[in-house]
Amino acid sequence: MSIPKHTDLSRLCIHTITTKPWNIEQSAKYYAAAGVKGITVWRDTLEGRDIRSTGRMLREEGLTVVSLCRGGFFPSIDPAKRKSAIDDNKRAIEEAAALGTNLIVLVCGADPSQPLTESRKQIQEGIESVLPEASAAGVRLAIEPLHPMYADSRSAINTLAQANDMAEAIDSPWVGIAVDVYHLWWDAHLQQEIERCARHNHLFAFHICDWKTPTTDLLFDRGLMGEGCIPVQQIRSWVEATGFKGFNEVEIFSNIYWKEDQHQFLKKIIEAYKEHS
Ligand code: ZN
Repeated sequence: MSIPKHTDLSRLCIHTITTKPWNIEQSAKYYAAAGVKGITVWRDTLEGRDIRSTGRMLREEGLTVVSLCRGGFFPSIDPAKRKSAIDDNKRAIEEAAALGTNLIVLVCGADPSQPLTESRKQIQEGIESVLPEASAAGVRLAIEPLHPMYADSRSAINTLAQANDMAEAIDSPWVGIAVDVYHLWWDAHLQQEIERCARHNHLFAFHICDWKTPTTDLLFDRGLMGEGCIPVQQIRSWVEATGFKGFNEVEIFSNIYWKEDQHQFLKKIIEAYKEHS
């Protein structure tokens, strides 16, 4: 592989969902002790907490809060649900600002009872309607295209080309894209679309994990880097060739790994990060 391996953890970020059995205080303490420098916070971990002081705690551990996960889920055939999604995204923007991160990842949503084109229209309208709050709070929004197996209900944006089209149509410095290898590795146009994304200053985040064969669960069977068929290093080389200097964010949902001792799992993540990402 032409890209040098990671020799340190200075650009390693872990999503709290990856070590779901840990609460955010445990995640922060154990990531930091292992030398991890970034954390992406899933909103469920903030429940019942003062968000501002949680953000302070994360920074005191030496962690950069890379992003808040997640906003989105804009489309619905029901206008009341679309309105409540917009309200929820405004709340997410406030939470991100309180936490001290300038990025929210959007799982954009889809409603199986209407055409994907309609869902995409509603996604664009939803994002545009929260832009005043985003810019006032200094919080950017990253559209995350999801694998087409989720096109029914989780995201009507399924390729990087579609995400690029939408970010360019919205044309705001507050809207860009999160590239996740799990969702995009199969795309023959991935390299060109990564270059296009960066050319428009839309490349906001880079998520990594692996695709296992067979995948036994559509949501909760992601693998560690090196365990599957995704050419993670190749994709990273394309991302870095654009000048991207952000974190490599490990985002693994796994019923198998969540049952393991999380300290052992964290060791495996770090090994896999150095060897296979
Ligand atoms: Zn992701």
